[in-house]
Amino acid sequence: FSADAFTPTSLVRTSTALNVAAEPPSTSAASGEWSPESWKSKVASQMPVYDDEAELDDAVNRLKRCSPLVFAGEVRALHEQLARACHGQGFLLMGGDCAEAFNEFNVDHVRDSFRVILQMALVLTFGSAMPVIKVGRMAGQFAKPRSEPDEVRGDVSLPSYRGDIINSEEFTAEARRNNPHNMVEAYHQSAQTLNILRAFATGGYADISRLQAWNLDFVEQTEEGSRYRKFATKVDESLRFMKAIGVDTSSDTFAKTDFFTAHECLLLPYEQALTRKDSTTGKWYDCSAHMLWVGERTRELDGAHLEFTRGIGNPLGVKISDKCTPEELLNICDTMNPNNTPGKLTIIVRMGAEKLRKNLPGLIRAVQREGKSVIWISDPVHGNTRKTDNGFKTRDFDNIRAELRAFFDVHEEMGSHPGGVHLEMTGEDVTECTGGVSDVTEETLADRYNTYCDPRLNGSQALEIAFLIAERMRK
Ligand code: PEP
Ligand code: MN
Repeated sequence: FSADAFTPTSLVRTSTALNVAAEPPSTSAASGEWSPESWKSKVASQMPVYDDEAELDDAVNRLKRCSPLVFAGEVRALHEQLARACHGQGFLLMGGDCAEAFNEFNVDHVRDSFRVILQMALVLTFGSAMPVIKVGRMAGQFAKPRSEPDEVRGDVSLPSYRGDIINSEEFTAEARRNNPHNMVEAYHQSAQTLNILRAFATGGYADISRLQAWNLDFVEQTEEGSRYRKFATKVDESLRFMKAIGVDTSSDTFAKTDFFTAHECLLLPYEQALTRKDSTTGKWYDCSAHMLWVGERTRELDGAHLEFTRGIGNPLGVKISDKCTPEELLNICDTMNPNNTPGKLTIIVRMGAEKLRKNLPGLIRAVQREGKSVIWISDPVHGNTRKTDNGFKTRDFDNIRAELRAFFDVHEEMGSHPGGVHLEMTGEDVTECTGGVSDVTEETLADRYNTYCDPRLNGSQALEIAFLIAERMRK
């Protein structure tokens, strides 16, 4: 397919200076020939076992005939923006559901996530005085790594739920069977989600003159809502001032936005089937999302997930906990970004505040010493999951804030750029994480605990995080 032909009507407005396309194909000499299926010769952790090979082949062949969800020209535009963030001139905002679900899908759900991300980006742009790169954990965030392969309830043991792209949540043997055709359904839902996002990003919804209208209905009544309202009024005044002095505030810069998608690169048959060769550059791109990341549990150096990602042209992320040593991180950089291209690799740090203060300085030092190009971003939620006495998996706002503070403190000490944040959040009024100015407590978790996997920040909690970061970056 010719990727660039699609760019003008895409989610992406501009393509500028930095020529990331000129990079030679990324094959790490030590690791041999790459192909979209070379991962099959490696050990793939967290991969579902399908009991019917013909059924799997059928689903993969269907996906191979489907059109790409994103296009190489868009992917390169994201890479260019990330390259700037890598040089300290940009901030990456990633957010969305822990797991998308077939049942939860509807236009309002997509719109609510999209608009809280817009709100957050506006607050962050103002605070950091930097471009904010908006990436949704959307249109493909279906597959989940699990700590236990099986789930036991009473004396019944069944395979764990691994996300709707693999099996179903209901606790029956039939629902928990790995069904390859779920991949095709996930593809079609992702196509719908992307269609909505493209319309919102470029069709007038994201026009900055509508910034008052982005406030979420339920947030409106909260402290964060009125804080956003005041903030929006300030931005409105600046816009009126710009207009008065002759700036064209109806141009694309104000009327449209770039919006990108990302998900965990976990289910390799799906990713492989959507990996296509770009006819303009001859490079392979995984056209399931603009950016893909490898999770903490699948980032083994000799594993299938690193093998797959090292050959694709997309910007990549990798999640790291305190278990990651400096040597390991340097090896990850060499494998995932062999040409050391700025913007290609984002390190997503998720450790919990205490471990982060202890471990992150050594990791940054190693990267600085070896001159590796990376973007450091904070995932302040995955290191802070706990179970309440009444059985809910939750996260406390105080712990999330403490990890963010630690992340910014360490980067300040080390002279490195705190390049972004990665959150599990939704625009909806869920009660899954406790604390913040929202009034969610352990007792009210049951009210609207809707997540299909990990607990998400609700719209007002997510906005509060944006204000906290913006304040920190203004310093
Ligand atoms: C996730 O992002 O949902 C996830 C599973 O993260 P991690 O790999 O950091 O555990
Ligand atoms: Mn999660």
